[in-house]
Amino acid sequence: MKVGLKIYNSKTGKSELFEPINFPFVGMYVCGPTVYNEVHIGNVRTFLSFDMIYRYLLHLGFKVRYVRNITDVGHLTDDSDEDKISKKARLENIEPMEVVQRYTVDFHRTMELFNALPPSIEPVATGHLIEQIELIQMIIDAGYAYESNGSVYFDIEKYSESNEYGELSGRKIDELIQNTRDLDGQEDKKNPLDFAIWKKAEPDHIMKWSSRWGVGFPGWHLECTVMSTKYLGDQFDIHGGGMDLKFPHHECEIAQANAAYGKDPVKYWLHSNMLTFNGRKMAKSEGTGITPSQLISGNHPLLEKGFDPSAIRFFMLQAHYRSTLDFSNEALKAAEKGYQRMMEAYGKIKDLETSGVSDQKVEDLKAKVYEAMNDDFNTPIAISHLFEAVKWINSVFDGKASITEEDRESLEELMSTFLFGIFGLKESSDDSSNISDDLIRLILELRKEAKDNKDYATSDKIRDRLSEIGIVVKDSKEGTTFIKGNA
Ligand code: AMP
Ligand code: ZN
Repeated sequence: MKVGLKIYNSKTGKSELFEPINFPFVGMYVCGPTVYNEVHIGNVRTFLSFDMIYRYLLHLGFKVRYVRNITDVGHLTDDSDEDKISKKARLENIEPMEVVQRYTVDFHRTMELFNALPPSIEPVATGHLIEQIELIQMIIDAGYAYESNGSVYFDIEKYSESNEYGELSGRKIDELIQNTRDLDGQEDKKNPLDFAIWKKAEPDHIMKWSSRWGVGFPGWHLECTVMSTKYLGDQFDIHGGGMDLKFPHHECEIAQANAAYGKDPVKYWLHSNMLTFNGRKMAKSEGTGITPSQLISGNHPLLEKGFDPSAIRFFMLQAHYRSTLDFSNEALKAAEKGYQRMMEAYGKIKDLETSGVSDQKVEDLKAKVYEAMNDDFNTPIAISHLFEAVKWINSVFDGKASITEEDRESLEELMSTFLFGIFGLKESSDDSSNISDDLIRLILELRKEAKDNKDYATSDKIRDRLSEIGIVVKDSKEGTTFIKGNA
């Protein structure tokens, strides 16, 4: 096994040598999506960052148990105190579990489209109600939570007597108190910073369960503590998520676990950075929340064209996971070119004419790629070294440089290990796949004409026939997009 992997730990603010608690086993928990709408490409970036990390840990030989949850209850909206899934169900007049089912299926499809490996366990919050109720009781018994008017709140003041609330995000309690907003139920709390671990359900609330504190539902922060520790133990190696979850979500997870188990739950906290648009976090609420199907089909007012999922993945890998990445048509087109150049070169390796000498050393190149990856998963640097290989391959191909058979073989192995195994790319969006995308767009244009002429029989026929060959057409207010099921 290769050693010397260094990981930047957001909790300590330092790059640390990765030493799992129970070598060679690694427990990794990543906060999954709240399944109340289609994920946008920013959400996808976070999940792909951790997919790369998961793949690299597996490659190094660690036995990884990767847990990524599905939040199907408890995540409240920012502007009101309503559950995101309940709200969607209320607005659409459907069952909350219909909302959950629809967007869970959609999320899985998206992850598959981007060639992300499934986690080892994908627990859902509503499947862990009993465990959540038990954990709440443990926190109450330990003296760190109190019941008030049918809800249970975490007692920040009590916790702060012997712990430091805010240590992950570097926030100070006094500042936090000044910034608290007035929300429902605030008057039930001893301190405005206290957060609900169990929330009383009002009579018209649709997702609710009975508990010893009355009818209600669990808090979002609590579910992650329950599902991570249930499957990984009360101390585990890696906890990941987007940077925006550091506070309050992860801060609250640390507090809950310390309160219940008397231990810090996580050895390495990893936070991936945001996908931005004109420097601002990509978000549905700002109209910049481009969905994967829109990005692939090119059907969004902000897009000039569609892109292949592997080219999009490559675009993301060309930034370090802890850096922000700004989304633009130009940046994507440049990444698409780079990806195609990389794939073309890879395609040439097996046909290279070999000779008795090599102009370069594959061993040196390989060492540089591993050095970059062992430095907190530095994919942009690793890719830049692989581009050195691309130059060499092209020169040999043009008869301007030479390579031995042994080097040719190890170069092929190095490139396929990284490009496909660790970076999760798929072999080439070549011209024929671009043409097929163009053809689908042409067919959809004809379908739109049929629809505009009220020839619904033809437009439905086109949609059904495309679906039969694995191309799913999605109509929405913004227009029509498609996803290739076998992409
Ligand atoms: P949510 O469904 O809102 O809980 O978000 C799911 C994941 O996507 C979380 O880990 C967020 O940190 C992450 N996320 C949300 N917006 C962005 C963005 N613009 N760029 C990267 N990750 C994001
Ligand atoms: Zn979480």
